[in-house]
Amino acid sequence: MTAQLYPLHWKKKNFSIKIFCSIPNIATGILLKAGDAHFVIDPGDGILRDLNKEIGVKNLLEISDVFITHGHHDHVGGVWSLLTYLRVMQKKSPLTIHYPDGCVEIESIYNAFKKVYSRSITYKINLKTIKKNSGFTTNNITVKPFPVIHKENLSTGKTRQVPALGYNFVFDGMTICYGGDTAYCEELVVHARNADLAILEAGHDEETPDDMHMTTKEAVSIGKSAKKYFLVHVPE
Ligand SMILES: [Zn+2]
Ligand SMILES: [Zn+2]
Repeated sequence: MTAQLYPLHWKKKNFSIKIFCSIPNIATGILLKAGDAHFVIDPGDGILRDLNKEIGVKNLLEISDVFITHGHHDHVGGVWSLLTYLRVMQKKSPLTIHYPDGCVEIESIYNAFKKVYSRSITYKINLKTIKKNSGFTTNNITVKPFPVIHKENLSTGKTRQVPALGYNFVFDGMTICYGGDTAYCEELVVHARNADLAILEAGHDEETPDDMHMTTKEAVSIGKSAKKYFLVHVPE
């Protein structure tokens, strides 16, 4: 599988998604648009540069929600700069960060940010942990989170499951499924089925499945059940 050429872009009526980047261990950065509303998914390193170029300062200041699939640095590396930029540019409207319960990275970044800038934050930040898989509506989209299987290596040589989610985003009868980082799992199979777009990681480059990423074959087998799919997070 050859490297993807980013950005990847999908649009149907006034629902669209742009994947600026999705390279394992380097960075992810995704912009979701539903009508006039902008949402950010997995703001890895470089997200500010890409958002600024794509939607400009005015729209950046109106971003209402950020969705985090899990706390690995290639998915949250841009959160600090995003929060700080919004303070510097004097954002006024609130920002909600949705993230899986137990994701200490987001809470640590938020706590450090609050500590450093306690006297100059111009906007309200709502941290919203996702504990159950029940759907909710925010701004003008419906969000359906689902648990996925994603592990990380410990220094002991063992692995542990990290708090990790995929999301289905529904707007105007259309569905985008983003699996985040995940091994092949039934939840993803179910949520990708019949989606207008499924964004699937194919981060495992061998044909020996593990509990961290999917092989291309696995990702394609799920992708085929959706109307269209992108393979992302392929090592370069
Ligand atoms: Zn990743
Ligand atoms: Zn990961």
